[in-house]
Amino acid sequence: MSSCSKPILEGKRKMLKLNEISTQYGGVPMLRKVSMEINKGELVCLLGSNGAGKTTTMKSILRLIPLVEGEIFFEENPIRTWKTYDVVKGGISVVPEGRRLFPKMTVLENLKVGAFSERREEMISKRLETVFQLFPRLKERLYQIAGTLSGGEQGMVAIGRGMMGNPKILLLDEPSLGLAPVLVEEFIKTIQKINEAGTTILLIEQNAKKALSIASKGYVLQKGEVVVEGNRNELYQSDLIRIAYLRG
Ligand code: ATP
Repeated sequence: MSSCSKPILEGKRKMLKLNEISTQYGGVPMLRKVSMEINKGELVCLLGSNGAGKTTTMKSILRLIPLVEGEIFFEENPIRTWKTYDVVKGGISVVPEGRRLFPKMTVLENLKVGAFSERREEMISKRLETVFQLFPRLKERLYQIAGTLSGGEQGMVAIGRGMMGNPKILLLDEPSLGLAPVLVEEFIKTIQKINEAGTTILLIEQNAKKALSIASKGYVLQKGEVVVEGNRNELYQSDLIRIAYLRG
């Protein structure tokens, strides 16, 4: 391989890169020079305790909050100046913390919101079929009002809605929070399935053990800074991870 071909090949594999991004809330620094890299096809987890800045990282990627410094690259394009609409349309979907469904709308209506930028009915039907393969239960609940679903079913709609955008990368912010352990297990398997079918994933998950069981690499945030990063084995061996996240 010639010396100049390597960076080009490496560059093509990059899905998302955060280059020393910093943010603040009302003048108070939150993220401090956070750097992360997610390659195409990877499943990466983002760990950290409450208030560490995980959701802020997601919001930064979605361009919901301004950056004080740094740059975010999506498929090598700097997106710092992009509007959220264009980020999502471009292929970054989110399953937000707390699901944020439209509780008075039906399951079908909620799912269709995720395909907002797709006008072709046949494409929307195709994506719905993909969602039903992941969550057969939703097909039975299609005309049910979302607010009347169980927590697990609402979680399925939230992930389904994210998939309706046919994303290149799916950002999942604690998708199984508050669910019974057996459901958490199911969600983790489904997230792995979505990744194996080709969607790159950034997963925020409280359950570090579960997240690391499917992620190839991860980052740990503490007070807005990345304090540990590495592949799965490196994280398993990290004292901080073992003491703070893997006990029990
Ligand atoms: P959690 O698991 O609790 O959601 P997190 O790691 O996702 O934690 P963030 O939601 O990113 O944490 O919040 C990081 C810090 O920024 C917290 O101290 C939070 O109180 C603060 N914060 C979040 N949003 C705002 C806001 N809009 N204005 C001011 N402070 C905020």
